Amino acid sequence: MINLELELRSDIIAKCREMNAIGLNQGTSGNISARLGDRMLITPSSIPYDEMEPSMIASMPVHEEYGSWEGPLRPSSEWRFHLDILRERPDVSATIHAHPPYCTALAVSRKSIPACHYMVAVFGGNTIRCADYATFGTKELSSAALAALEDRSACLLANHGSIATGSSIAKAMWLAVELETIARQYFCSLLIGGPIVLSDEQIADTVAGIEKYSRPDNTECKETRAA
Ligand code: 13P
Ligand code: ZN
Repeated sequence: MINLELELRSDIIAKCREMNAIGLNQGTSGNISARLGDRMLITPSSIPYDEMEPSMIASMPVHEEYGSWEGPLRPSSEWRFHLDILRERPDVSATIHAHPPYCTALAVSRKSIPACHYMVAVFGGNTIRCADYATFGTKELSSAALAALEDRSACLLANHGSIATGSSIAKAMWLAVELETIARQYFCSLLIGGPIVLSDEQIADTVAGIEKYSRPDNTECKETRAA
């Protein structure tokens, strides 16, 4: 196995262990995938993360024969939405699915997250949608997830959990954690009367601010500070 692939397989397992260690997920729930060229690497189904080894990660072609796989163990039961996301979204290189407590509390109530915090804008718009319900592991769930992810990097899954995507596993993990944080904040606000939701204009201003904030060379921030 070439080093890059071994590194990616190891990183997938490290992030699985991390999501359980920080309370974002529990047990063998959840799954992680990453793009490697024209293939998708994905966690095997129902294996405890502490026992997972790089050789157990399944490999699937992204565009060739749908659902075919290589590896000693069958891929995650959710391979369909992981694969469909890579097929439909060239901007995505990694997907993290989890059953986080607060995301799932909202998802069992079938609640999308409104612009209750400016960080909602980080996910691509003024809401984080809750996808329609479908049985786990089905094409119907994949279709519902893809619809909820339109122009967004994350969504909730009704009566199930969350999906966060990114251009790398690290970015997807960052968004998965931010999503659970916003879900907790929204959940808490509902207990004390509900949030005051930001306007579309306020979210548009935030998007512009985030673009500057995340500029790799930080030029704009320096200019702003100097002025
Ligand atoms: P897998 O163990 O098959 O990845 O399934 C876990 C899960 O979260 C299903 O939705
Ligand atoms: Zn699940």
